[in-house]
Parts: sequence; C-alpha cells; structure tokens
Amino acid sequence: MLKPNTNYNNLKDSYLFYRISQKVAKYLDEHKGSRVLRLGIGDVSLPLCKTVIDALHKAVDDQANKSTFHGYMPECGADFFKKAVAGYYEKRGVKLLEDEVFVSSGASDELGDILDLFDKSDSVLVIEPAYPAYVDANVMVGREILHLSSGKENGFLPLPDESVKADLVYICSPNNPTGAVFDKQSLKKWVDWANARGAVILFDAAYEAFIEDDTLPHSIFQIDGARTCAIEICSLSKTAGFTGTRCGYTVIPKELERGGMNLNAMWVRNRTTKTNGVSYILQRGAAAVFTDEGLKEIYENIAIYKQNAKCIMAALDKLGIWYCGGKNAPYIWLKCPKGMSSWEFFDYLLDKAQIVGTPGEGFGSCGEGYFRFSTFGSVEDTKEAARRLVELLQDK
Ligand code: PLP
Repeated sequence: MLKPNTNYNNLKDSYLFYRISQKVAKYLDEHKGSRVLRLGIGDVSLPLCKTVIDALHKAVDDQANKSTFHGYMPECGADFFKKAVAGYYEKRGVKLLEDEVFVSSGASDELGDILDLFDKSDSVLVIEPAYPAYVDANVMVGREILHLSSGKENGFLPLPDESVKADLVYICSPNNPTGAVFDKQSLKKWVDWANARGAVILFDAAYEAFIEDDTLPHSIFQIDGARTCAIEICSLSKTAGFTGTRCGYTVIPKELERGGMNLNAMWVRNRTTKTNGVSYILQRGAAAVFTDEGLKEIYENIAIYKQNAKCIMAALDKLGIWYCGGKNAPYIWLKCPKGMSSWEFFDYLLDKAQIVGTPGEGFGSCGEGYFRFSTFGSVEDTKEAARRLVELLQDK
C-alpha cells in the first residue's frame, strides 16, 4: 500500500504569515476604511530597474527570431549568467570558476533542494531566531534538527563550540529576522568549526547587497577555509526586486568533498536530472543586474529601503527601544516595549496604530518578546508608521 510522507504531520500547523494575514483581514473587516500600514512581510515594493527591464525586453525579442532563439538552456546556468555572477564575486576579491556557479529560481527552492546532497541521518543545526523555511524543509525529510538559540547577549550572532555537534548548519548573514551580520572573525570561527568536524555550512546570503559596512563579509568565500566547507545560496529577490520574477544562484566550490564524494559534481548530476534550468529570458534579465549600470540602479533602490530603515530607527531611538539590524540589512529587530510578548505587541500595534509587523516568536521560541519590522514598504507608509509609533509609545 502507498505510504505518504508522514513527516508532514510534524510540520507546525499555522504558518506565521498566514496567521498575520488572518488577523489583519479580521481587523479590516471590523474597522472598514482604516489605513493599515504593512511593515510585516519581506516583499519588495519597488519595480525592477531599467537596465533589467531593457534586457528582459530584448531577450523576449531574441526568442522571436530563428537566429537568436534559444530552446533548452544548460541546466546549471547559461555561460553568460555564470560569468556575470563570477565577475560580481571577483569585485569582492573572491575568485570563482564559472562551473562553481549554478543558476536557480531563487533561494527558497535551493535551501530545501540542496538537502538532496546529504544523507537523511545527517543532523542539521538551525540558529534561531531563523527564517522558518530552514526548519520546515528539514522536517519534511525527517531530519534531526538541532536548535541553537541566540539573544541580545551575543548580538544574535552565536559562535560554535565543542558542544555544537551537527553535520549541517544554516547561517544567514545578514540575518532574517534580526538584521545582525557576522563579521569576518566570527564567520571564520564557524568555518574552522565546520572544517574540523567535517560539517557543511549552508550560507544564505539573500541580503548581502544591503551590507554597507565594508569590513563585513558579503560572501562566506571571503573567509579562508570556506571553499572546503561551505555552499552559498543567494537570490536576486531582495538584491534586485526579483521576488515575483524569480532568479538566484548557488555557489559550490570544486574542493568541497565529503565521504569521498564531490558535492559540486553531485549537484551537477542533481540539476541535470531534476531541472531544465531557468529560462533564457530570465537569465538575461538577471545577468543585467551585474552590469555597471544595473548595479548602480539596484543600489539606488536599496538606498530607498535604507532611508525607510533610518526613519524607523530614528523613531525607536526617540522612544529608547532596544533594536538591532537596519544598518546592513532590510530588517529591524526590536525588543517589545512594556514587557509585552510578541503577539501581544502585534495586537497592540494593529489595534492602536494600525501598524502590521512580524512577531519574533514566529522565528523560533527565543524570538519571544521581540518584533520585526521590514523596511521594504513604501516611503510614505514607513514615514507614517514611524510617526504613529512615536505618538503611541512616547511617555505622555
Ligand atoms: N532566505 C531568506 C533568509 C529569506 O528571507 C528569503 C525570503 O524572504 C529567502 C531566502 C527566499 O528568497 P527567494 O525569493 O529567493 O526564494
């Protein structure tokens, strides 16, 4: 008899953003016409930049002519795309072979799919608070999940020690939800830990483009020793507004081997079996991000989100509320005022100021008592939210 994957029974029922949308829908139903300001979900609000749009249009036209038409693309990525990504890394002093770059449809797909490379008995460490997909993708395959809590005392940037015994670890830096970023020395400790244990780091660099402090690493491959212990997963979703367009990339160095097997070669085998790559049109649009003009334009958009961050941080400073993030990341992570729990603060903000944020508890139990604001909203809404926050929470 067919047996379904019963690991799905172990997934938590209510998905964080689903619960939030239910609460907001109920509020709007009961308070028709109120202006709710959404600083919750991490989706971008600015359109694709001109250079990307032009490249997409041109690629559509290419598909109309016999001489420029493309059928199936190479599963692991078009040469022009891999070259563009390798060129981007080179600007940060990281040398990659083009065959170490794999195109993807975005980071979400890869964070789960990459688990195909590892045995089910390998344990995975999730540093919490964490992006919920890390846990769920591993619950679905029935893998043992170890949790490492972080907190205010270590700036939400915990370091490994001998007690940390895992085969895989997800590291997200800049972090969603806390906005905290590992510096090179701290990341080196994780790299040394992984090399010593024979573990593999799954480095989620989805927010690297938001780093403005030049001393902080954008890529784990800026750290000595990472080529023998790390896989980097990145996305153009937040870098270039591709959340609805979909394109990303994964980097697996040729040196990365475990148990006598080469992980780069295994991923080539995996991709050539399980995907037929990403469309020619999208890869042309994505490659345009890495041109001088494309980079200039995406940083102009990122500067607008950073202005939003400044606006919220100024309000929190005025209120004397503790927070981290915001400077090198599009998220601000704050301590809920007046000793409120995450969901209490969510309800309070929605009810009293019509502001929607994300309760920290949704990112793991150590996120209880914290709250996340996203800076991806519109400038007008963010300014108004900052004004309402101050009005609501300042001592009268
Ligand atoms: N990784 C992190 C930390 C994220 O926050 C997100 C999306 O919010 C993703 C990955 C997924 O990004 P993508 O749109 O590329 O699937």
